[in-house]
Amino acid sequence: MTNGVERYVSGARIAERVARLAEIGGLPNGGMNRLPFTPEDRAARDLFARWLSDLGLPVRVDGAGNVIGRREGGDPTAPVVMAGSHLDTQPMGGRFDGIAGVLTALEAAEAMGAAGFVHRHPVEIVDFAAEESMGRFDVSMPGSRAMVGALKSEDLELRCRLTGETLREAMGSIGIDLSRLAAAERPLGSIKAVVELHIEQGPHLEEAGKQIGVVTTVAGSVRYHCVLEGQQAHSGALPMAYRRDALCGAAELLLAVERAAKAQASPPVVGTVGYMDYEPRSPVIIPGRVRMIIDVRSVDAAARDAVAADIEAAARRIAVARRLHLEWRLSSGFPPTPLARAVVDTITRACEDLGVSSMPMPSGAGHDAMTLGRRFPAGMLFVPSVGGISHAPQELTRTEDLEAGAKVLCRALCMLAA
Ligand SMILES: [Zn+2]
Repeated sequence: MTNGVERYVSGARIAERVARLAEIGGLPNGGMNRLPFTPEDRAARDLFARWLSDLGLPVRVDGAGNVIGRREGGDPTAPVVMAGSHLDTQPMGGRFDGIAGVLTALEAAEAMGAAGFVHRHPVEIVDFAAEESMGRFDVSMPGSRAMVGALKSEDLELRCRLTGETLREAMGSIGIDLSRLAAAERPLGSIKAVVELHIEQGPHLEEAGKQIGVVTTVAGSVRYHCVLEGQQAHSGALPMAYRRDALCGAAELLLAVERAAKAQASPPVVGTVGYMDYEPRSPVIIPGRVRMIIDVRSVDAAARDAVAADIEAAARRIAVARRLHLEWRLSSGFPPTPLARAVVDTITRACEDLGVSSMPMPSGAGHDAMTLGRRFPAGMLFVPSVGGISHAPQELTRTEDLEAGAKVLCRALCMLAA
């Protein structure tokens, strides 16, 4: 019996918890600074674990740092129905990205408890560790990655761009026991479905006047590490004709990325240089070396790869014309991930049952559900982001939308777990 459990979902309670979490690593401008594997991250994880315990759910932290609460079903050996997202944030990030998914999953578990919901499959409510790890390390989503056996031991030796510590050290610093990392992997067939609610982080739902986006495909990304090396020299003494200015080359490449992505309008491709550093940094020195990370994404792999090839060709042209040395390396690549039909259909039906307006849509951003979707049936639902703003202090999702999303999530989980 799955009817009516969602009546126990409270938008006010979700909003209260959003506010409580925003006190941990909150910035004066309303933004959040709760980077993965920092004391703030740890405090948020601990608070979440306490909320789970308050519901009477046993809590464990696996060897990759995922915080997992479990509501036992009638058959403890049945495959798990999993819901969750992440509590860490980008630097100067928002209050809802990831947090909305964890808190609505928690709310669904609370509603199941209040309704005395009886189900067969165990339900797990998860804070996936460090979804935002790209803000520090060159590996994304180590928590969900480990669950599908895709966190490699060499990944643990990657160094933080901000502090220089390794991923291993950073994880250890908040008490994650990496000796149990292998056991964090979930075998094929052990998870029946993963459902992640997330804020849309774009403008489409608001523009369409819909409350829920049912995600059909998650865009695939490729990321390139590019180094341009010229000749460091005196800014006053060396005439323009003699220069091999690496930063000028990077400026050209930066605009080439934008041009190449804009030229591919349908299916759309996005291209971004979100990270760049150069050296030395002095007003009287011509920069000798630039490092940049180029991120290209689309739900259409062929269109994405064509744009990436254009960008690489531009990089090589610029390097030759400016007599720069170019290093070009593919650092990570994910194919576009279609989400599982059965889970997508369940979410759509939950929307219909509850009379909540919805529309199918792709996700431009990557999420834990995408990573888990490599091995397990996964689905996602989006709730609107006001103004399409995310990864910014202005990020906002209205409480009524969080409540509607939590009700849909709750109903979908009930159907899957029954
Ligand atoms: Zn997120």
